[in-house]
Amino acid sequence: MPLVNPANKRSIEIIVVGSGLAGASAAATLAEMGYKVKCFCFQDSPRRAHSIAAQGGINAAKNYQNDGDSVYRLFYDTIKGGDYRSREANVHRLAEVSTSIIDQCVAQGVPLAREYGGLLDNRSFGGTQVQRTFYAAGQTGQQLLLGAYSALERQIGMGKVEMFTRHEMLDVVVIENKARGIIARNLITGELERHFGHAVLLGTGGYGNVFYLSTNAMGSNVTAAWKAHKKGAFFGNPCFTQIHPTCIPVSGDHQSKLTLMSESLRNDGRIWVPKKKDDPRIASDIPEDERDYYLERRYPAFGNLVPRDVASRAAKERCDAGYGVGKSKLAVYLDFAANTERYGRIEATKHNIHNPDHETCMRLGHAVIVEKYGNLFDMYAQITGEDPYKLPMRIYPAVHYTMGGLWVDYNLMTTIPGLYALGEANFSDHGANRLGASALMQGLADGYFVIPYTIGSYLSKEIATKPIPLDHPDFVAAEASVKAILDKFISIKGTKSVDFFHKKLGLIMWEKCGMARNAKGLTEAIAEIQQLRKDFWSDVRVPGVVNEFNPELEKAGRVADFIELGELMCIDALNRNESCGGHFREEYQTEEGEALRDDEDYAYVAAWEFQEGVKFELHKEQLKFENIKIAQRSYK
Ligand SMILES: Cc1cc2nc3c(=O)[nH]c(=O)nc-3n(C[C@H](O)[C@H](O)[C@H](O)COP(=O)(O)OP(=O)(O)OC[C@H]3O[C@@H](n4cnc5c(N)ncnc54)[C@H](O)[C@@H]3O)c2cc1C
Repeated sequence: MPLVNPANKRSIEIIVVGSGLAGASAAATLAEMGYKVKCFCFQDSPRRAHSIAAQGGINAAKNYQNDGDSVYRLFYDTIKGGDYRSREANVHRLAEVSTSIIDQCVAQGVPLAREYGGLLDNRSFGGTQVQRTFYAAGQTGQQLLLGAYSALERQIGMGKVEMFTRHEMLDVVVIENKARGIIARNLITGELERHFGHAVLLGTGGYGNVFYLSTNAMGSNVTAAWKAHKKGAFFGNPCFTQIHPTCIPVSGDHQSKLTLMSESLRNDGRIWVPKKKDDPRIASDIPEDERDYYLERRYPAFGNLVPRDVASRAAKERCDAGYGVGKSKLAVYLDFAANTERYGRIEATKHNIHNPDHETCMRLGHAVIVEKYGNLFDMYAQITGEDPYKLPMRIYPAVHYTMGGLWVDYNLMTTIPGLYALGEANFSDHGANRLGASALMQGLADGYFVIPYTIGSYLSKEIATKPIPLDHPDFVAAEASVKAILDKFISIKGTKSVDFFHKKLGLIMWEKCGMARNAKGLTEAIAEIQQLRKDFWSDVRVPGVVNEFNPELEKAGRVADFIELGELMCIDALNRNESCGGHFREEYQTEEGEALRDDEDYAYVAAWEFQEGVKFELHKEQLKFENIKIAQRSYK
């Protein structure tokens, strides 16, 4: 990679939009290297980025457990887990730098869990047979973000990063085919601002909230990526959505958010449904031999730790067949009793208690479970009003993560020169299904270790470029078009709230482009979303004015973008006549109900180009597998 010398770095300005794990780590590292950085987020503090919510852990190929892990195995697991729809080179680099991430975070003081002897501890996540997940109780994202945030704050304190909180990027400014800045709205005053940068980085997160209900933070949205898309950045594999198997089930139509129960719980929780249809008994009254541990039955090699797409579909299959539990019958059990007893037995031995009875084992095991998962159990109890130490948790799949995102090359650059996408905002590493604990790894890899190197390749050719004055006609035009859209929202004065349209969109997406899709449903969904877009632009009601704090106006912009994205997701899903990972087309499945890929025709990344009038043109990046033999995925 070409380099930029230290003196030249001081005169190069970089805009980083986003202060989650990807954005904060990139901004801090680039400033540390000497670049002048401006960082933007819409929350009131970088610490409130959605990354703070991540619970379970972060993967790294350290092989501390001596259980056969290696860079190659992490690479292999990730390609296979993504159902052979990701680019080998990027994934291999991710596996390589994974080990440095842990060293970096430990050096920052991130309190990752340790074993008694002081070594870093690991647990298992889905889709692997090794223990490579590092964690900090059930708050891994929070602790990692505090590390990245501290590094960022240090640079802010030294004047090398200028931080713009409560600012929302509403457009990217492209001058002579290069990204040269952004238009951002100050969310407190409503003022529009122009900002110049030699390069613009988007670490703006995922777009799961297109489904309205998801485990994402309420504010997570696609606007930054979508504006970039409309300015020429291709959108990669938009239909690849991850539905996470272990979420608290929907309880009614009053909800605006769903809650994840971390995948780490599948280390010790066993998933089951009654063997009898519509069984009215409560879980504790159903004897062992009348329970169907369907994941252990169908996938003996990986059991409860099959990847998320496989576990989600299996839960749906059981519920659709009439074996669901709870009032809605759209739930399965996640049961800790067996492992609580197992831990209790070990504790009893440690305490020299021989032949402990069941009660003693459960009492001693309870303490172990509290230590491992206490905060998650508390969260479940607070939300459901049930005690998960006494009754199994009820869980059901919910939208969680988006593998699709802005298309990027090996250097993480989009199809607009000088515009980069990092973390969940890009499509890069997870193919059609992300393995658990790999998003934090990717966000930090991109920010700490990838972009600091690869950006030199572009910026080394920009050292002679002087800052472009903010009254340049392209800045003026970009701001004017943002203002026109904001004014339009206020002027419609329709009868329906923004949330009304968002909920409608979410329902269409969940029913027709969710866990299972088919050509008929997708065709209907496209027509319904087109109609919804028309209704939105003629009947939405946004109160207040543009030049003030106006959360409804913020939401209107985000939902307008979600509606266009939703259509593209359905078009992409309809185009992909195969099943792979999280994209399950009902027409393409094996006799056993597993996803049936078509490598002959679809081993490509679908990179969509936006065209005037909300139209999309497909470009294909053919995937070549040179280090891994492409095969039917099996977890048996
Ligand atoms: C409940 C939950 C638990 C999870 N647990 C795990 C886990 O255990 N392990 C794991 O690997 N992954 C986990 N994930 C996934 C992981 O948390 C995310 O993929 C990851 O944190 C995304 O990081 P990011 O930096 O890309 O984006 P985010 O953390 O979403 O940050 C986005 C940033 O962009 C800013 N932004 C967005 N749009 C704009 C705009 N227009 N203008 C200005 N700023 C903008 C936001 O303010 C924010 O600062 C979990 C996800 C959820 C929902």
